[in-house]
Amino acid sequence: MEGDFLRFFRNKEIVEKIVKKIEEKAKHLEIIKIMHVCGTHEWTIAHFGIRSLLPDNIKVVAGPGCPVCVTPANEIDAIANLSLEKDVIVTTFGDVFRVPGSKTSLIEAKAMGGDVRIVYSISESIEIAKKTNRKVVHFSIGFETTAPTTALEILRNPPENFSAFVTHKLIPPAMEFLLKQGCKIDGFICPGHVSTIIGARPYRSLAEAYRKPMVIAGFEPLDVIIGIFNIITQIEEGTYYVYNEYSRAVKEEGNIEALRLLNEAFEYSDSWWRGIGLIERSGLKLKSKYEKYDALKKFNMELAKEDYMPEGCKCGEVLKGEIMPEECPLFKKVCTPTHPIGPCMVSIEGACAIAYKHSIKVF
Ligand code: SF4
Repeated sequence: MEGDFLRFFRNKEIVEKIVKKIEEKAKHLEIIKIMHVCGTHEWTIAHFGIRSLLPDNIKVVAGPGCPVCVTPANEIDAIANLSLEKDVIVTTFGDVFRVPGSKTSLIEAKAMGGDVRIVYSISESIEIAKKTNRKVVHFSIGFETTAPTTALEILRNPPENFSAFVTHKLIPPAMEFLLKQGCKIDGFICPGHVSTIIGARPYRSLAEAYRKPMVIAGFEPLDVIIGIFNIITQIEEGTYYVYNEYSRAVKEEGNIEALRLLNEAFEYSDSWWRGIGLIERSGLKLKSKYEKYDALKKFNMELAKEDYMPEGCKCGEVLKGEIMPEECPLFKKVCTPTHPIGPCMVSIEGACAIAYKHSIKVF
């Protein structure tokens, strides 16, 4: 069954036929820039060489779709500082462990004596809290995909020595921010995983307001190629709507139960996106009735009111789709996955880390 699925969605002949149609349509178009907003899409595009199949005037760029990459230095600084308090254990996902803040990373805080532990889920962090009298703080990063799990665990009333530093971010406000800023984006490939939670609806008003074609796409090469073909077709026809190519996983209304959990536990907050800036109502924070689990309040955590990027790092431009990773002067020369300078080289979902591992066409 899985074999049949992959044979279909990775079928070279079908992909080539659609590429030919894209080539035909592209002849009548200027330079078109399509942005995706998902680390897994970037991996598919790089791994299967999709950029190399496209005509020169069809560009596909990565946007702010890697949660680790957009986690700002002020949040990393704050949680790294907290880990140095002697009665505190900080838990975090592995990807964010090495991301540099403005002064230190969590791995450096651990080397300085901080108790920082890598976990695979928030529930693992809660299990640690159940076995200790110390205060356990989970660094809850991620988009709409991971936020429901945080909500679920908070609503289950974990022990009171547990709290979460909630920094969940929402993709549609970031897409709108880039459009409002006037970034050159002619269409979006909307993120598949996030869309399984939020559904197709949140994109519809964006497509309409900014007159941009959008496709919710799955993660196989054929999904992405169909998505690009649909966007090019919409541009050619002068239409702008949301096409749900990933209907095998994404419903119009999203995941009702996950959305209920989000609604119960969280409210909107303004949120910093690394390299991009402060975006209104683009984050989630715990509702005041759950403040005993809110690390920000429990520890009076102070967040710097500015963004920080290591000197010479172009992650901001990469995350806005303005440049490809290879155009950063530090790429591969100074900045590598073993010695990352910026966040986009740290995470396995980061555009720079993915570009490092694959050959990507530079424009
Ligand atoms: S290659 Fe390194 S320094 Fe350059 S943008 Fe990417 S992460 Fe930043």
